[in-house]
Amino acid sequence: SDFMLLDATAMRNLEITKTMRDGSRYGSLLWLLDNTLTSMGSRKLNSWLTTPLLDIDKINYRQNGVEELFLNPLLRNGVRDVLGDLRDIERLAGKVSNNNITPRECRLLGESLNELPSIKLLLSGVNSKILKDISSRIANFSEISSLILRAIKEPDNSLKDKDGGFIADGFDEELDRLRLLSKNSSQTLKEMELREKEATGIKTLKIAYNKVFGYYIEVSNSFKDKVPYNYIRKQTLVGGERFITEELKQLEDEILNSKEKAIKIENEIFAKIKCVLTENIVEILRSSNAISVLDVLASLAHLAKRNNYTKPKMLPFEGELNIVSGRHPVVEQISQEQFIPNDTIMNTNDDRMLIITGPNMAGKSTYMRQIALIVIMAHIGSFVPCKSAEIPLTDKVFTRVGASDNLIFDQSTFMVEMNEVSVILNKATKNSLLILDEVGRGTSTYDGLSIAWAVVEYIADNLRAKTLFATHYHELSELEGKIDGVKNYKVAVKEFNGSILFLRKISVGSANKSFGIEVASLAGVPKVVTDKAKIILKKLENKDINLTKNTDKMLETSDNSIEIINELKSIDIDMLSPREALDILYKLKGYIKEK
Ligand code: ATP
Repeated sequence: SDFMLLDATAMRNLEITKTMRDGSRYGSLLWLLDNTLTSMGSRKLNSWLTTPLLDIDKINYRQNGVEELFLNPLLRNGVRDVLGDLRDIERLAGKVSNNNITPRECRLLGESLNELPSIKLLLSGVNSKILKDISSRIANFSEISSLILRAIKEPDNSLKDKDGGFIADGFDEELDRLRLLSKNSSQTLKEMELREKEATGIKTLKIAYNKVFGYYIEVSNSFKDKVPYNYIRKQTLVGGERFITEELKQLEDEILNSKEKAIKIENEIFAKIKCVLTENIVEILRSSNAISVLDVLASLAHLAKRNNYTKPKMLPFEGELNIVSGRHPVVEQISQEQFIPNDTIMNTNDDRMLIITGPNMAGKSTYMRQIALIVIMAHIGSFVPCKSAEIPLTDKVFTRVGASDNLIFDQSTFMVEMNEVSVILNKATKNSLLILDEVGRGTSTYDGLSIAWAVVEYIADNLRAKTLFATHYHELSELEGKIDGVKNYKVAVKEFNGSILFLRKISVGSANKSFGIEVASLAGVPKVVTDKAKIILKKLENKDINLTKNTDKMLETSDNSIEIINELKSIDIDMLSPREALDILYKLKGYIKEK
């Protein structure tokens, strides 16, 4: 009950996190909204978007933060500059907890923690509660970060962590000594070689290394008799012999051990740093959470500024939805066409069921979705694409849109459609927003029209949810005035030289034509087909007029036909006098006349 219910169908149909066409993020609401600069901010936005709030105070708390960042470009840009330099502190902190952070990642964490004071400084004069709270939740990690920055070198891609080398020079004396030793070892060996050559007079003497024997002194056979007594024989070759000395052995130990020892010392230092980080993990996670919220707020403010959004006023559940010059946030960014804004008023009284008619391609779906998206955006604390907006709290947003098959789950197009309708009729409340686009299109015209009609009636009378109902069944516009809360709207077009001009403007009233054939020819359907379709349409329309004229009467008479049938059943014709028969005839006629 703390969050707006957005079921999987609504998420898919409204393209909240991915598009319906190809499942890509590009073109979804999340794609549009996500101007965060850190991965933790992006994850936070994703979670906000799937759990919009249902508490005005909590929404306002976020909104006020967005507003302050929106109004203060220095603050907004300053914060975003620093955020842009931050790594995913949350994920790195998780690695600390799991004890699988690498030295390189640890350095990145240290660098990021080192940036936090500049965010705190930027936030020092803020007014909104949320920004103040963020500031106070960001802890001071200067000791840890300076320890990390002093201890761990900047990442060097040529090194593998297991080979050591990640602890900075000058951080540990013993480590420095060992490193110097292995660095100088080749020099020391050269010096020893020279010294031994001179002392023994063996001109061909050389010191070398192999994996099996380690370091050795090699003397060729011609100098065999000059080998001093302290040389210990290791190996005999065809042309010479190999020896070691105590001194060489010692040096060898030191050279080989120094590397191992150095790695050990590096690991000890790193373990200590990890220990310090672990001790501070709660603080680090709390800070990273605050940073991620700040990132989302700054992202929403940035978007609001860039795309000219306004702060919506949130109203209690029963309030009137009033959007002035609303726009579809994604279509206005992606479409080549100049986007035409439209107003919307919906409430729990006279304007709760908007029946929207209009030609194909006129913009009905876009209009309905823009309202749902504006409502959802408002519930996460975002500004919205319009001149002004008053948005009542909305417990659930349901959608039934277009045709989609679910063949792998054994459901036909129409079955999917009816499943969606059934979920809506069973779950929606008077505080819900329903988007119904083309109900009843998957079956025969009269079945479909009847279902659509009954659905409109049920929602308007029983559920009383705020509903946008787009349809090509123009008969449904007859419900205005007959059912409380139903209002007709149409999307305007201009007929022009046998073609149509889309005006994209929503106005009161109902359309009487779908222009489906005109849209078909715009789409490139061959002229023979569209010409033929026009002829068929003419014929059908003539028939249809008769049918629709009779529809009312048909429905009215259906109630008393039962009474007439019952009356007829009860008559025994053979027992009637002519006079009685005439009376009954009058009575039956009377049933029809009364209605
Ligand atoms: P159909 O009945 O065939 O489903 P529709 O009336 O639902 O059509 P939409 O799909 O909403 O029509 O819109 C058709 C195209 O018109 C969209 O691709 C969109 O880019 C463009 N469009 C819709 N509304 C507007 C608007 N207000 N301003 C500019 N372009 C718009």
